[in-house]
Amino acid sequence: MEPRRRRAHYRRMRRAFFPLVNLLLCPLAALAQPRVTITLFDLAGLSSQTIREMKAETTRIFRAAGVGIEWLDCELAGKPVNLAVCAEPLGPTRLMLHLIPGVNKTKPKASGMAFVEGGAGVFACLYPDRVWEHASGANWEFGDLLGHAAAHEIGHLLLGSNAHSPAGVMRARWETEDLRRLSHEGLTFLKGQLRSVQTAVRQAPVAERSQR
Ligand SMILES: [Zn+2]
Repeated sequence: MEPRRRRAHYRRMRRAFFPLVNLLLCPLAALAQPRVTITLFDLAGLSSQTIREMKAETTRIFRAAGVGIEWLDCELAGKPVNLAVCAEPLGPTRLMLHLIPGVNKTKPKASGMAFVEGGAGVFACLYPDRVWEHASGANWEFGDLLGHAAAHEIGHLLLGSNAHSPAGVMRARWETEDLRRLSHEGLTFLKGQLRSVQTAVRQAPVAERSQR
């Protein structure tokens, strides 16, 4: 084959071959993505739309950090569901999130809390009433802000209690006046935190990971 025809032949091959390779590799990349399961207990009886929006926002924030989130509903509108599978033990990639009505009695201003020991934890809770106050004052969608608050507390479970950063989803201040001027899209994990989030999930013991 003469050089010019050979080059054209290779170009045609590349055009035909590369999309096929991408098609094969994309599902593999999705499988390789570290994943966390969140067992969700909605004790506050929120609407299904708010829960859907919360999940979507938390999932988006973690997807941007290279971590997949699987949600397992364990209590919805005050009713337990999926009893057997929800009783499985928690661990580094299987965390628990409670949505609690009212306010925290010892920290009434708290929108959420993560219970962290030795740099990591498995249980966090949110106080949707407090989140709703911030959301309505700052003109945010309730479910949207709830999703950010969930990502923040889950971030603490993976990164520890000293994980606050000056900006992004791990910012310490979530007051109404701050939220008014913040861009929703910018509230993700910062560059320096991405590797830590992925490492926290990837370092989970193999036996624990295989339970999912
Ligand atoms: Zn925090």
